[in-house]
Amino acid sequence: MANKLGIDLGGTKIEGILINEQFQVVERKRIPTNREEGYDAIIGRIIKLANELIEFGNVDTPVGICTPGAIDIQKGTLKNSNTVCLIDQPLKSDLETAISLPILMENDANCFALAESILGSAKEYKLVFGVILGTGCGAGVVMNKNIHRGPNHISGEWGHHVLYPDGRSCYCGNKGCAESYISGTALETEWETLTGEFQCVTDIIDSKAYLTHPEWKNNFISNFGRALANVIDILDPDAIVLGGGLSKVEILYTEGRDAVADAIFSNNMVTPIIKNKLGDSAGVFGAAMLGDYI
Ligand SMILES: [Zn+2]
Repeated sequence: MANKLGIDLGGTKIEGILINEQFQVVERKRIPTNREEGYDAIIGRIIKLANELIEFGNVDTPVGICTPGAIDIQKGTLKNSNTVCLIDQPLKSDLETAISLPILMENDANCFALAESILGSAKEYKLVFGVILGTGCGAGVVMNKNIHRGPNHISGEWGHHVLYPDGRSCYCGNKGCAESYISGTALETEWETLTGEFQCVTDIIDSKAYLTHPEWKNNFISNFGRALANVIDILDPDAIVLGGGLSKVEILYTEGRDAVADAIFSNNMVTPIIKNKLGDSAGVFGAAMLGDYI
């Protein structure tokens, strides 16, 4: 029986998973990235991890690598990454040589959307917009269980659509990007500026600390609503599934959803906005599925 191998290459940990044709876990391993040790050490650890997993079952489909950041699909390199030593390195070709299997690389938001569409909370839907709202703000578009990448490979990059043309500066070079307002990083920076104290978004919401600065929450909800309404107006997906740390913010499914409904070009929004099912595992499952759902 053919198994599938996926690897989630993150800034702090590398996770590998071997799943069978029924998507059941055959073996799973997690190791630290130790990014300070550099490219050669990291790639050596990925190769060791892959070979250890392959010992648990035959793999004859391409191996999927899921990683945050922009990927140059033609070259098989990372154009940007928070693991700086990986940028522009021949990750794909080095891994293919070492483990003698084709490698497919995909960003974490696309892997998340794919996994949730096949195994997770969005599996009943045809056109899925899978959001990762955490440190940053990304998404993937999956149509009929296939990732839609687009000719520029930027499909789903809604974090960098502009909400405010004269707004906050974004690292991408534009001003007023959605990510500069509704990512965890942006919201926590805004909170620290208001209060002088750092708190994570879930704590601010859960403890109702925002009651001292209600504008913080009101802006968060209305920006979330506007940003997703723009997506629905253009793409009108069958479902939106939320992932990342901020997917645990329950008011996004109530007040947040209402704000989306208020802002879309329709009097009646029927689009489900749902929480992910696979949690942090979505990336590695999505990576393992890349060979079958390309
Ligand atoms: Zn931007």
